[in-house]
Amino acid sequence: MDGPALGLSGATGAAKGGVMWSNRLRVDFHLGIVVMFGTITVLGISPFGVYRYLRGEYLIALIDLVIVASIVGAALYAWRTGRTAGAASFLAATYSLGCVAVAHLGGLPGLLWVYPVLVANFLLIRRWPALLISGGAMAAVAASDAALATPLEKVLFLVTAIVVSLFSFVFASRAELQRSQLEAIALHDPLTGAGNRRGLELELQAAINTSERQATPLGLLIFDIDHFKAINDAFGHEAGDDVLVQLATVVRGNTRANDRFFRLGGEEFTLLLPGASGDALWAIAEKLRTAVETGVQCRGRTVTISLGAATHRGGEAAAEWLARADAAMYRAKRAGRNRTTTADADGVPA
Ligand code: GH3
Ligand code: MG
Ligand code: MG
Repeated sequence: MDGPALGLSGATGAAKGGVMWSNRLRVDFHLGIVVMFGTITVLGISPFGVYRYLRGEYLIALIDLVIVASIVGAALYAWRTGRTAGAASFLAATYSLGCVAVAHLGGLPGLLWVYPVLVANFLLIRRWPALLISGGAMAAVAASDAALATPLEKVLFLVTAIVVSLFSFVFASRAELQRSQLEAIALHDPLTGAGNRRGLELELQAAINTSERQATPLGLLIFDIDHFKAINDAFGHEAGDDVLVQLATVVRGNTRANDRFFRLGGEEFTLLLPGASGDALWAIAEKLRTAVETGVQCRGRTVTISLGAATHRGGEAAAEWLARADAAMYRAKRAGRNRTTTADADGVPA
């Protein structure tokens, strides 16, 4: 995903080259794996390539050279384009083909490379494709009579390789689960379950890019609970929290699956609505406003919200767009609350 959309976090353009370099490797998990694995492999294989060359084993030396060149190429490609998933798949395929070729041509020494390659496959790509590619490599290596002369050796190899693959598969499954749980915690507000500001930063620019590429409208609503301080003051913080949870439930019940819901902070929320512009955005805002008015209560008191609506304008920066919706929301507050105001010329006027 691209950098921070709102300029609320992240490095400035003036950051030093070295800092940016190491920061990118630290922040981009997959890029870090591709570059570090690539470096380790190049350092590990190059001396063998030279050794094979000096011994006159030119074909294996050439295979080593091709592997090193492919890995350097893949790492550079990932670095320049940011397409780390493609580079990681290419690395896994290169490793697997390389160890099969070396096992067939070089016998036992080639066989020993299979084990690190099996582990690397599960760290580089998703566990199911990794299982497939590793299974193929194992079968192709087991078919080599140069590396495994007898049926017993073949069986022993297959059993140990399968055990290593299954260990790696289980580890990759746990890591994937943990990663998605951590991501969910980092990008969501624990009270309402809505995305948090960080989640919005990540999704806003991606949504803008998609909408501009597909030439489809993209709507934004910012809304804030009216006189929320009074609710807290009268009934306590817990009652206020309960209102926030009720509001989130009503919002989810009145939006579609691909609408994105975020809590900006306090009692201020935003909705990112792909496909909604002008009148449609206005209608959604009004439906939501009415649903809150009739569906959210605090000790018998009606709770209301004020909304600002803005459709994304071609080429408009994310921060600018948010600011327009925010200004419209404040106009709704000033106009008396419990209403929607639009920032768009073509939207239904307040
Ligand atoms: P307005 O109609 O102009 O929006 O008035 P308001 O009272 O809603 O706005 P104000 O910004 O004065 O008050 C917001 C209050 O929200 C103040 C703060 O105590 C409360 N608040 C912020 N975060 C939370 C939270 O997580 N839980 C609870 N219960 N209250 C919160
Ligand atoms: Mg408020
Ligand atoms: Mg507020």
